[in-house]
Amino acid sequence: MTYHFSKRVPQSDVDAVGDILKVAGDPKVMSFAGGLPAPELFPVEQVKKATDKVLEEKGRAALQYGSSQGVPELRNVILDRLKVEGIDTDADHVMVATGSQQSIDLTGKMFIDEGSTVIVEDPTYLTAIDVFRSYGAHFVGVDMDEDGMRMDSLEEALKNNPDTRLIYTVPTFQNPTGRTMTLARRKKLVELAEKYDVLVLEDNPYGAIRWEGEHLPALKSFDKSNHVIYMGTMSKIFAPGLRLGWVVADPKLIKKYTMMKQSADLHTDSLAQYVAAEYFAENDINEHIAKITALYHKREQLMVNAVDKYFPAGVTHSNPEGGMFLWVMVPGVKDSQKLFDAALKRNVAIVPGDPFFGNETIPGTFRMNYSNTPEDKIEDGVKRLAEAIEEVMAA
Ligand code: PMP
Repeated sequence: MTYHFSKRVPQSDVDAVGDILKVAGDPKVMSFAGGLPAPELFPVEQVKKATDKVLEEKGRAALQYGSSQGVPELRNVILDRLKVEGIDTDADHVMVATGSQQSIDLTGKMFIDEGSTVIVEDPTYLTAIDVFRSYGAHFVGVDMDEDGMRMDSLEEALKNNPDTRLIYTVPTFQNPTGRTMTLARRKKLVELAEKYDVLVLEDNPYGAIRWEGEHLPALKSFDKSNHVIYMGTMSKIFAPGLRLGWVVADPKLIKKYTMMKQSADLHTDSLAQYVAAEYFAENDINEHIAKITALYHKREQLMVNAVDKYFPAGVTHSNPEGGMFLWVMVPGVKDSQKLFDAALKRNVAIVPGDPFFGNETIPGTFRMNYSNTPEDKIEDGVKRLAEAIEEVMAA
């Protein structure tokens, strides 16, 4: 059979990131590569209780087809979460999605044609790049610094690309850098979106996991003219396996999302939605988030201390105040893959920076994850990684 694939299918069979995660899954390898929450904190017993109760009390509804916009009980829970981000809205503005990954996909499907410009942070979440690329996006990368996306670079990109369809941003504890956009830049971004009449897709999976600094409101909270689409998820505060996310937008747009979702998967898993709503009704989610935050903070401190102690002079890193990732920049290294190869020789895995860029990369960069590595293993892994970096820098 000769397969005649659509343009959306990647031409190459090389799955660089998949291959990295595969080797990182080898028990011999200490992996700083993935982006997984700490499974020891999943509230298994409470979810079991919630599931039993849902099956007992509304088993038939939970196993039946449901509304594409989502179970009302869960949308109410989501409205409470949104208040924490400064977004005061109602259930008509919310659609439940199958993880925020689906919100990204539906947004790409709705707004991107072959050749459409999408502005992204340089670097950004690599699976969003894959999605937008599959719909034919032309990427324009915007520089970042420790305060997030640079607004002068963004305005220049908007001036040079008047046909921009979307600005995609992860403003808080960004994947892959761990950086956070300042309050002033958040306001400025919304102003620029209005001035140039461009949509913003705000992706906020990590915002609740903060151990330092002041909680910052979502971009969406400053949006008075429907220029911002907001996405959230249960994945990092509760359980990624349930695949529960949400998109928040103008009801007119939510109607379109709901129609597109119908075509994609009819609706998000009803049982998962009822169970999550029940879990949130019976448990204190803030207490749970506090536990996650304390553990990740401990791991982040161990990682940063070890990095500062062992990495060669000149190597710099981001200073996350929350979230799950550390971004490392090694001077003088042209090929980030070499860092990965040298680390793997020492049974440590990281994700080299290249796939996090829409087009031009910043060489010598990589991402480290700390949420998924037990405290007693972090220093040893960083020590070995330091030797790998030394070797590549000396070559
Ligand atoms: N956006 C970002 C920035 C992410 O890091 C992730 C997951 N790693 C997602 C979206 C997708 O998350 P989910 O579909 O589990 O909500």
